[in-house]
Amino acid sequence: MKIAIMGAMPEEIAPLLEYFKVYETIVYANNSFYKTTYKNHEIIIAYSKIGKVNAAITALSLIQKFGCEQLLFSGVAGAISKDLSIGDLIVATALAQHDLDISAFGHPYGFVPEGSVFEKADARLIAIAKKVAQEKGIKLKEGIIATGDQFICDSTKKEWIAKTFDASALEMEGASVALTCNALGVKFFILRSISDAADMDASFDFDTFLQSSASVSADFIMAMVDRLVDDQA
Ligand code: SAH
Repeated sequence: MKIAIMGAMPEEIAPLLEYFKVYETIVYANNSFYKTTYKNHEIIIAYSKIGKVNAAITALSLIQKFGCEQLLFSGVAGAISKDLSIGDLIVATALAQHDLDISAFGHPYGFVPEGSVFEKADARLIAIAKKVAQEKGIKLKEGIIATGDQFICDSTKKEWIAKTFDASALEMEGASVALTCNALGVKFFILRSISDAADMDASFDFDTFLQSSASVSADFIMAMVDRLVDDQA
């Protein structure tokens, strides 16, 4: 099985590269992809750079160029839900693009032309994650994640996103990865650890907690990878 692990920023994949230690670097589509072998399975790791377009290019490359059959995303996010604190983990059940707006033509906010507002994540991977969390005594929340090409650091914007999409967290890549994977029939899993609360303190909190929250997410992804490859053995 070929597994893709992607993040958006170097900090989000650094703990994974450190874990695997030995990997080959392949440059493609103006990005670096890190190829390694783990328990007889090929794993390709990449960070896309921030934003929906970068994330879609990387997800597509991981699938079409590298032949990945499952994609796990690891990264950080701004919290919407009150019961999410810095460092908490959330897995996306579905994702929406909060900044995609053709509502002038009667479509709902976030509506993807010839598609829908929400992209659903893979139920099996979520179930596996819940099992891993339970066994390890880790709190894992599930919910809708909203994605847009904006760093949200404003309570009014955050509340609008919360209300419009019933979202629990927000970030800048997940929904475009979801759209890419669903278009190509590749199962995906989007995990985020909270770095900030998308409010006026968000940029300060983000800088303070990026590294620690990214590590929390990467550690959980490694536990997921272990489970996935053991299930295949
Ligand atoms: N400091 C970076 C920009 C970070 S953008 C720079 O200067 O280039 C924030 C990143 O973390 C994105 O990849 C996004 O997915 C996630 N994220 C965390 N908190 C967020 C928030 N409040 N709003 C939007 N994205 C957030």
